[in-house]
Amino acid sequence: MSDNHNKVTIIGTGPAGFTAALYTARANLNPVIFEGTQPGGQLMITTDIENYPGFEEGISGPLLMETMRKQVQRFGAHSIYATITKVDFNSKPFKLWDDSGKEYTSDTVIIATGASAMYLGLESEKEYMGFGVSACATCDGFFYRGKKVAVVGGGDTAMEEANYLTHHASEVLLIHRRDEFRASKFMVDRVKSNPKIKLALSSVIDEVVGVKDGMKKSVTGIQLKNLKTGEIKLHELDGIFIAIGHKPNTDIFKGFLDMDDVGYLITEKSSTKTKIPGIFACGDAQDSYYRQAITAAGTGCMAAIDVERYLETLKG
Ligand code: NDP
Repeated sequence: MSDNHNKVTIIGTGPAGFTAALYTARANLNPVIFEGTQPGGQLMITTDIENYPGFEEGISGPLLMETMRKQVQRFGAHSIYATITKVDFNSKPFKLWDDSGKEYTSDTVIIATGASAMYLGLESEKEYMGFGVSACATCDGFFYRGKKVAVVGGGDTAMEEANYLTHHASEVLLIHRRDEFRASKFMVDRVKSNPKIKLALSSVIDEVVGVKDGMKKSVTGIQLKNLKTGEIKLHELDGIFIAIGHKPNTDIFKGFLDMDDVGYLITEKSSTKTKIPGIFACGDAQDSYYRQAITAAGTGCMAAIDVERYLETLKG
């Protein structure tokens, strides 16, 4: 086998990928981890994590991921800072190609590609992306010190982002399309008791408004539509944070593996096995229901154990 052949290839980092790496490394399977476009995954753009067991005072997402990376490296897992953009699971060993076109082969693959932020789909949102429109309060909140911002969404992420942004912004308008929140009661109560957060319920952004001067662009407001009255009103503000959920990063596996309508990979019940023996899926790429850091880590552990047992069966 070539230098580019591995027994275990893990695509993607995050709690799922790192936990899979930890277990397979400790089983002397020398896993290789492709870190992908966002090394560390979604927790790299998360503020304090208060619901990952073991951290009494909570821990920041980036610190948790850096600690996980160091832990797996201690046992010999090897990170490659490239993104897998193409696979061929039709023949064995499985083939994978990175974004530079380099080919790798592997006896087993653990898919831990996670999910990416979704956007509203407005042309004006795209126009001002990175110029006032963001999906990451931790990354960009700092730029809105003393300014007015909006957060879109009714889930825990939107609540967390809204609260976090009050540390920087003078006012946060939380926009949700229904008048009931999907987020947990604790998070909603925290938002409702924060005097800097105003609510715009049963409302959606109809248009992002801004100014352009050559290459310079900036958001100056939004056209906010009240879904109950149909009224559209201009709200002046400086930044918009979209927190409306995520889409699994599974496009490259289309045609090889089964997935649901949204793109979540389908695995056998109570296991991480896909329909192809030797290919396993864990974390947010296959979990549309729980989607927690701790459940991702749990399924990463399951994938590693499934890989170990699969390799044992090959030995006979
Ligand atoms: P969710 O899927 O839970 O929520 C997405 C929100 O966006 C919903 O309120 C949804 O509205 C709204 N939405 C979706 N599409 C649109 C659209 N096109 N226009 C307007 N609004 C839209 O995603 P989250 O990212 O909030 O959370 C994902 C998971 O992560 C959850 O399980 C959550 O509990 C967990 N999480 C936990 C945290 C913590 O405990 N610290 C922090 C962050 C996330 P509607 O409700 O009408 O469908």
